[in-house]
Amino acid sequence: MTVIGVDIGGSKSLAVRVDDGDVATEERSKLDRSMSIVDAVALAVDKVSDGPLEAIGVGVAGLVRAADGVLVWGPHVSGIDVPIKAILEQRYGVPVVVDNDANTAALAEFRTGAGIGYRDGLLVTLGTGIGGAIVIGGEIYRGGSFAGEWGHARIEEGGLLCDCGKRGCWETRASGPALARLGREVIAANPGGSLATRLGQDEVTGESIVSAADAGEETARALVAEVGRAFGNGLSDLISIFDPEIVVIGGGLGSVGESIVGPARRVVVDSIHGGNLRVPPSIHVAALGQAAGAIGAAMLAKELLHVR
Ligand SMILES: [Zn+2]
Repeated sequence: MTVIGVDIGGSKSLAVRVDDGDVATEERSKLDRSMSIVDAVALAVDKVSDGPLEAIGVGVAGLVRAADGVLVWGPHVSGIDVPIKAILEQRYGVPVVVDNDANTAALAEFRTGAGIGYRDGLLVTLGTGIGGAIVIGGEIYRGGSFAGEWGHARIEEGGLLCDCGKRGCWETRASGPALARLGREVIAANPGGSLATRLGQDEVTGESIVSAADAGEETARALVAEVGRAFGNGLSDLISIFDPEIVVIGGGLGSVGESIVGPARRVVVDSIHGGNLRVPPSIHVAALGQAAGAIGAAMLAKELLHVR
């Protein structure tokens, strides 16, 4: 049985082809924001496709109504009220399931990755923005449809303008673009400094700053730690709200590991409500890395076949 899982994030897409339960191939691409979301998914599907398909699962970074597979809106993706499921089912002639990409990542991580064995937990993605999924009793909790969009919890009055159109959202302080903005500020203030020299003509992105930090560049390390702390402050609030058994950190920036998650974890330990009278939940980096969203989408697609 062949199913394809696709994850459309804010800046990248990742597709996997799963043959008889094993991930046979994985392809990631930079997203062309001028392309429609459906064409972006189809391009990703076609890249990994190799013969007949039985189902397609899609995770999208945005407000997705999983019941009918409609992308309602997303600050980092193009399109409003796009019936992705209906269009793709017509195009490929196979069943299609569409969900929020943090939900699909959570499904994969809690079944086969870092969250295995836990029934109540959170998955928090850190990338172009912050996304999330809530797992209760081993199942994804969706609320009305869109639960877990805590990247847009407003942590500052006024504050920086977010891609969602509001100001002061958590992800304006903790995300790849937030890290890039800090980097650009440092470089503008000190164009001959070590960070500017290190990055040279490279584009200043969250990833390039993390690479510089991991290579030991001190300014980059300080910036990554600053974003890690901003991330940790929000995690601490989520832990106060949910008291999860585990928090799994995914997404393009979250998956890089300890350079960003380490400072976040220390903030949680220092600021958690109840202090040292309680044991904070484990905070783990996603075991499936950046592929979690696509693998979970393929799992959802497989479930669809069992139901029918
Ligand atoms: Zn926002």
